[in-house]
Amino acid sequence: MFACFPLESAGSQQRLGSSTTCGPRVSELTEAGNLAGVQHIILVLSGKGGVGKSTISTELALALRHAGKKVGILDVDLCGPSIPRMLRAQGRAVHQCDGGWVPVYVDQEQSICLMSVGFLLENPDEAVVWRGPKKNALIKQFVSDVAWGQLDYLVVDTPPGTSDEHMATVDALRPYGPLGALVVTTPQAVSVGDVRRELTFCRKTGLRVLGVVENMSGFVCPHCAECTSVFSRGGGEELASHAGVPFLGSVPLDPELTKSLEEGRDFIREFPESPAFPALLSIAQKVLTEAPARVP
Ligand code: ADP
Repeated sequence: MFACFPLESAGSQQRLGSSTTCGPRVSELTEAGNLAGVQHIILVLSGKGGVGKSTISTELALALRHAGKKVGILDVDLCGPSIPRMLRAQGRAVHQCDGGWVPVYVDQEQSICLMSVGFLLENPDEAVVWRGPKKNALIKQFVSDVAWGQLDYLVVDTPPGTSDEHMATVDALRPYGPLGALVVTTPQAVSVGDVRRELTFCRKTGLRVLGVVENMSGFVCPHCAECTSVFSRGGGEELASHAGVPFLGSVPLDPELTKSLEEGRDFIREFPESPAFPALLSIAQKVLTEAPARVP
């Protein structure tokens, strides 16, 4: 099922498939071949699929990069790895250096890197049909064997729900003291109900909730700028207030966001006039404010 890794001899430089960019120096990677060089780890959770968890993970990473941060994304949504496509990095090869697997750098400036099971499948349409222990082993490997180097933020996109994979992810990240979790919901009561379970999961595993994000919260008419509440409105904020956790903001349904994700474009850089832009930037700003400056 997995594509062969182009294993390279010790000390060799990273090769990045068809890309022209190259990663950090190998010496840099071997010194910090795990998460030791990562300042802040943020998990992105959702009660169910299709609510925009990967979208929020991707845009949060792009917005943090926009704020001048160096960002990594770990896509542990093993059954639905959509981030490579959202960042136009599908089909790129993962290489190995002394410090472990080298994440894929998605921009020339090397300010965003990504590791996803999507890179390891021979065929992107192939399904990962694995039992729990095998999935958990890969998650552990993603945490311990990826040469992330020095990052300001690592955004971890998890599968929907509260499964074994979530426990495996939280357990593997615990030694590195994750900053907390961002929980994504749509405004309807049924999605909000699922998120309640997500909040219970955070409480039971000792994971701090950075806040709730309500996604697909209304549609702003491109002609008259009036906002229509397609899926009702306010469920996320109400839930956050009941649960006593911060509400980070509402992201409207935005056709330009859908398009930019389909085409793997940088929404934050290219669509500053779009209705979703201020919401996404404000969420990233709140995350930045939450993260204490760590003494190097
Ligand atoms: P999940 O990770 O929760 O399964 P995704 O992030 O993959 O969900 O989003 C599902 C689909 O909805 C994607 O095609 C994405 O482009 C679209 N989408 C998500 N949020 C928005 C939004 N605010 N505006 C427009 N399209 C969105």
